Amino acid sequence: MAMKKETHQFKTEVQQLLKLIINSLYSNSEIFLRELISNASDAIDKLRFKAQTAPELLGDDSELKIKITADKSKKTLQVTDNGIGMTHAEVMENIGTIAKSGTSAFLQALEQSKKESAITPELIGQFGVGFYSAFIVAKKVTIITRAAGSESATRWESLGDGAYTIEETTRPGRGTDIILELKDKEKDEPDFTEEWIIRRIVKQHSDFVSYPIVMDVEKDEPIPEKEQLLDKDGKPVGEKTRKVMREETLNSMKAIWLKNKDEVTEEEHKEFYTHISHDWNPPLTHLHMKMEGTTEYHVLLYIPSKAPFDLFTPERKHGLQLYCKRIFIMENCKELIPDYLGFVKGVVDAPDLNLNVSREILQQDRLVRNIRKNIVKKLFELFSKMEPEQYESFYKEFGPILKSGIHTDFENKDKIAEFVRYKTTKSDGKFVSLKDYVANMNKDQKEIYYITGDNLSAIINSPHLEALKAKDFEVLLMTDPVDEWVVMSLTEYDGKKLKSAEKGDLDVGDVDDAKKKAYSALFEHIQKRLESKIKEVKPSTRLKESVACLSGDNYDMSAYMEKILRSTGQTMPEVKRVLELNVDHPVIAKINALLEKDKENPLINDYTDLLMDMAVISEGGKIENPSKFSKLVGDLMAGAINN
Ligand code: ADP
Repeated sequence: MAMKKETHQFKTEVQQLLKLIINSLYSNSEIFLRELISNASDAIDKLRFKAQTAPELLGDDSELKIKITADKSKKTLQVTDNGIGMTHAEVMENIGTIAKSGTSAFLQALEQSKKESAITPELIGQFGVGFYSAFIVAKKVTIITRAAGSESATRWESLGDGAYTIEETTRPGRGTDIILELKDKEKDEPDFTEEWIIRRIVKQHSDFVSYPIVMDVEKDEPIPEKEQLLDKDGKPVGEKTRKVMREETLNSMKAIWLKNKDEVTEEEHKEFYTHISHDWNPPLTHLHMKMEGTTEYHVLLYIPSKAPFDLFTPERKHGLQLYCKRIFIMENCKELIPDYLGFVKGVVDAPDLNLNVSREILQQDRLVRNIRKNIVKKLFELFSKMEPEQYESFYKEFGPILKSGIHTDFENKDKIAEFVRYKTTKSDGKFVSLKDYVANMNKDQKEIYYITGDNLSAIINSPHLEALKAKDFEVLLMTDPVDEWVVMSLTEYDGKKLKSAEKGDLDVGDVDDAKKKAYSALFEHIQKRLESKIKEVKPSTRLKESVACLSGDNYDMSAYMEKILRSTGQTMPEVKRVLELNVDHPVIAKINALLEKDKENPLINDYTDLLMDMAVISEGGKIENPSKFSKLVGDLMAGAINN
């Protein structure tokens, strides 16, 4: 039974987005065609991939192509593909109703930038809002689509005004028609039904699409002699040519990765990158190579200039496009590149690949593993050859994900360590490599010091660093969550151990034995009072100015790691830490005097709690009883200020 026509509202986010796109991309209106062609090409890719295991999906319609049809008098433009198509449910899901993760992330990014002028085509392109760009030029958009393997088709229609209709319809075969009823154009705007304009746009933005983009064009054709009008003497009279419609392919479908690398222009790289990545920003740089040897293959890789908003989400698509002799095999082929380099976009064309391999087998395939290994090696070479400025801009975008390789790629962790950069206590906000750190090490210094935390200004001022700073030892400031995993795996660099400034003993001198003895009763008292919270109280070698801090044993979890794990909802036993006190601080001597006079003085316990709170606060932690803290400090101030 045919479904009734239904009217639905766009999700609010989609409505907002539509308005923004229409207003801000007005002067770039022609990109709509690239976006629709790119969707069509993706749909054919998907069909082709499925047809490898289900050839019946192709049926008798195996000539895969994209067709553009313009009607000048009706002012319509249609993009048709015989790709995978969409079911009713998929239309509902993909178009208009459910905001894709990208849509809301995009709006959030806009919210932050606040300025409409900040909305560039590049920004929009980064979030893949392609289909909606049809409304830049169309007053009405109709989709007629039939999923491969399905009998019925779906018709979706919208004026871009917040509502759309959806109903069942028919379509002769699988695929999708996107029909645009064009807006009335102003004088200086391009006429998108004009053949030469369509040709130009396709050539400029979609030349690499690997399926033919065809259009019926009018051609003059000679009239065969026997069809010509003859006079009574049998001589041809009248027109010798006639106008006929012929299908013409507009794109060259050139596989630029197969070209000689000097023959590809920057402009071609930019267009091709946009085509495969859906990112409209130009790539930062590229790597184009032909591998020769026992087996031959071509690789063309791009490093994006901006990280996508979803770089760290697990469901993010990544991987390279895999081709075999120019034939597209699959997208997002993860087997060709490790996760920590998953931001790289590009194409691998391997003629010797066994075409019938499934994804599972691909992982075991020797050729694939060999390609992956070479890609990693060549990318490392590319990173090390970048100019410092370019490298820094790359590192700011992709450093966190690249670093994760230290933890996940054991074989290459030392190589990846060469690529990490950190701000330090001495670098004045600049990034420093481990190599430079080691080169600048103080001659008394044996280890590489670091501290982790989510707030740069909190960790750079952390009391844990006081003694290290006094000795003029540089400390790496690690503020990415992933750094906790980095230091777990990278235990040494260039023969020097990496050492946390907040764990274990630092190599910065000892505490005077006489003092230790003098305060032993006090420390015992404090230990008893705080028994449930700390594992030990001890005189500190770390502190110079502050009274108290918390530290861990060498193999304890850092405070930051604990915070990260808790924020991901993991439950774990409380990690007890060590309370370190600065025995050279006058406060300790004063509390000790109170204790010597009267062990029962309640102030001793109050001050003990206060010391604990101060240690927590100084590392940016949360104290247990803030109101008690503030009352104690209030009392102390009242006593201390004499005017
Ligand atoms: P994107 O292409 O970045 O995912 P779009 O808004 O352009 O975003 O498209 C949304 C989704 O609609 C696509 O991911 C795809 O699933 C579906 N779609 C769009 N055009 C077509 C088409 N021609 N054939 C099949 N599915 C399509």
